Amino acid sequence: MNNLYKIINELIYEYNLNIEEAIDIEDLIRKMNIRLVIADLPEGILGACKVEGLKRLIVVSSKVYNEEQKRFTLAHELGHILIHRGTHYFSKEDVTTIYTNKQKEDEADRFAVELLLPSKTIRTIIRENDVDFELIKQVAQRYKMSLIATSIRITEVTNENIIIIYHRNNIIKWWHKSNGEIFFNERYEGIDLARIEQEKDIPSKKVELNLWLSEDEDLYSCYEETIYFNKLNEYITLVQII
Ligand SMILES: [Zn+2]
Repeated sequence: MNNLYKIINELIYEYNLNIEEAIDIEDLIRKMNIRLVIADLPEGILGACKVEGLKRLIVVSSKVYNEEQKRFTLAHELGHILIHRGTHYFSKEDVTTIYTNKQKEDEADRFAVELLLPSKTIRTIIRENDVDFELIKQVAQRYKMSLIATSIRITEVTNENIIIIYHRNNIIKWWHKSNGEIFFNERYEGIDLARIEQEKDIPSKKVELNLWLSEDEDLYSCYEETIYFNKLNEYITLVQII
């Protein structure tokens, strides 16, 4: 994994990348003399890459649905080329579960998020701002990343007590927890999300602490905020204990 940071630092240095804003990933790939092709790939495959001697190729599906997904796919494939030097495919499933169990996919994803939104940059941002969806939206827009990938990324890096939960029909699809000191209780599976799903977008509001924390600590306050994804009929909820 250290290797990954080393490779990215070398790229930043060698190609003089400005990590204060979204990097031009297509330009970087061109400058690295990697051939970039947009093609019809089989259903569910977003990208692929190939290394053959000195020849390097990245293929992106013409069906990527937006700029953010295209950038993530390109960065992911670039990760495979630089770390694994082989032939790989990137499927749709990899996008929703962002970090899959397969080691190489995991490494390529980690490479992609670190290149597109370096942890150093996030640390600076969260030092100066409160973490909420307003901030996550701003960062996502500035770095041309999806809201979900940015939420996960910020949750990973922050020391605040945050958990993000992706849900639908009162069922959790996935969740990510920060390294904050307070240990959220582990009863997410039984948690009542229907309460949240009655409304659509819910701005940050104070809720009872015992909804999320088993101990009744008067010292803390609990805040909840939710974004509704109309097209998917899914919700992302950010819970923060301060
Ligand atoms: Zn891959």
